[in-house]
Amino acid sequence: MKHNFELIIDSIPYLIVTGIPIRNSNNEIVDFEISFVNSAMKKITEDSVEAGMRISQLWKNSENSTGFLEKAKAVAEGTPLVDEHYFSKKHNLWFKIDMFYIQEEDFFVTTLTDITADKNFSKQLQTALMTDSLTGLYNRNGLFQYMEKVLNEDEKNQKCTGIAILDIDNLKNINDSLGEKEGDDLIVKIANILIGFKSENYKVFRYGGDEFIIIMSNLTDEDEVAYIIDDLYNLLQTNKVKLSGGIAVSPVHSCKKEELIRYADMALCYAKKNGKNNLTYFEKYLEKAFLRHLTLETKMHTALKESAFKQYYQPQFDVHTGKLRGFEALIRWNDSELGDIPPSVFIPIAEETGLIVSIGNWVLETALETIKDWQERFNFNGIMSINVSPLQLSQDNFIFELSSMIEKYGVNPALLEIEITEGVMISHMNETIDKLQAIKDMGIKVSLDDFGTGYSSLSYLQMLPLNTLKIDKSFINNITSSDGIQANITSSIINMVKNMGLETIAEGVEQPEQLALLQKFNCNIVQGYLRGKPMPLNLCEEYLSGNEKALLTINSL
Ligand code: C2E
Ligand code: CA
Ligand code: CA
Repeated sequence: MKHNFELIIDSIPYLIVTGIPIRNSNNEIVDFEISFVNSAMKKITEDSVEAGMRISQLWKNSENSTGFLEKAKAVAEGTPLVDEHYFSKKHNLWFKIDMFYIQEEDFFVTTLTDITADKNFSKQLQTALMTDSLTGLYNRNGLFQYMEKVLNEDEKNQKCTGIAILDIDNLKNINDSLGEKEGDDLIVKIANILIGFKSENYKVFRYGGDEFIIIMSNLTDEDEVAYIIDDLYNLLQTNKVKLSGGIAVSPVHSCKKEELIRYADMALCYAKKNGKNNLTYFEKYLEKAFLRHLTLETKMHTALKESAFKQYYQPQFDVHTGKLRGFEALIRWNDSELGDIPPSVFIPIAEETGLIVSIGNWVLETALETIKDWQERFNFNGIMSINVSPLQLSQDNFIFELSSMIEKYGVNPALLEIEITEGVMISHMNETIDKLQAIKDMGIKVSLDDFGTGYSSLSYLQMLPLNTLKIDKSFINNITSSDGIQANITSSIINMVKNMGLETIAEGVEQPEQLALLQKFNCNIVQGYLRGKPMPLNLCEEYLSGNEKALLTINSL
């Protein structure tokens, strides 16, 4: 059977044009004479292309007319055409162009394939990859491309670029307590406020879960960044939106995008630490503080491995009888290079990095070992209070670890007291209450530390399964002041807490006058430098074996 190839070629959707090379006297190809145009091509060109025309005329309306003729010549001379795309403004279509030269026949073919749908799809894909689906804002990928572009431009034009990382305060709490839908709604609301703020040389990106990045470009100086940020901050306040932000500026801090983001992020950390809902500019000293933070983090890992932590014990006494109630275990760390590092410095870092969980386990085990030993050697039956950090308590296996360690050392749980701070309540209130109840059910005492420093309210105290309440030193400091206000407050707190059936411990008692007042207020226990400072193991043991003088007090040398 003989095929009618012309008919076949006419029926396919590609645009096909064939041509025969036209050569000059030097045998160089100068153009092609069109020998065949298929139906698809005729249709799209409305019959304006036909056999006998020059192929150069085919491209005459495109901006790249000479380019295509040159390419066609190159193909005829043996250079293949690679991935050539052409956009027809007239038809609003993208074409892929292929060209072939059949040497034996001295014959040239070019085909045009409509790839508009592919192009649109990959453009959509590109946009999708760069866009955050929740807010419609550009995401990280979009950010990096955009930053690269504006940082280069601004550097060339000697302009400044500002970058601000904004982080929604407490989004996690909103998600946890009200549900993710509420959280998402808040993100969208904030995105809209940020988008609506300013348009020129200002672009908003969604950087992560609760983070946005704003790029301000083409600015004269650092001050201009500050003006924009001031306006933005006012707008956020008007909308009652709570965000923390860190800001870095190119070229002042760095010209590299990764560094600028890192610096803005460091500044953001400081903003968060300073009570949230504020914006902080990056300063060089922040980097130093960060490095110190990092050094401490590394050193803490080593300290754990090399047993560089020590435990001190601070005695607690009955206010009325003066008898020993027990001790609070307090961690100590002496680094060979940095010297003594106070727990107020390294515990928060251990919290942030999660290392507190291992440190906490060490603390627990050391304290149990000590009680066991003291029980055997000194018949000790006082209480050992142990500080448990919020992160440690929130571990799923905390109760299991605690009970297996108690079993391992064979310690009476009634001699143990767990000190927690209000930090544990911030999220997962119900879970925390259940956990504390389980600890209490094991016969261990539960104590609320630092009362009076946080948001403690009495109604909230009632919800917690507690045995003991420790009134913070900051409360005790002023109870002897002449106006009597602090004394009144402290006295009524002690009364109320007693009525709830809790034991009260006054912390940081340094003066005999304070002790006298606490006796008057019927406070149960005192802990402070007046009666005893935290002491190393050997001094505690000397004291437990009967030497009262072993106690370190505010009057000791
Ligand atoms: P805290 O639990 O409130 O411990 C009481 C702090 O007050 C201790 O400081 C203690 O030395 C100090 N102190 C006690 N009496 C007086 C006094 O009369 N005057 C003055 N000026 N200070 C007094 P320290 O040992 O530096 O501990 C600071 C904080 O570090 C502790 O506060 C606690 O929050 C944390 N911490 C200490 N050890 C541990 C631990 O083993 N685990 C955890 N998670 N945190 C710990
Ligand atoms: Ca404590
Ligand atoms: Ca305390």
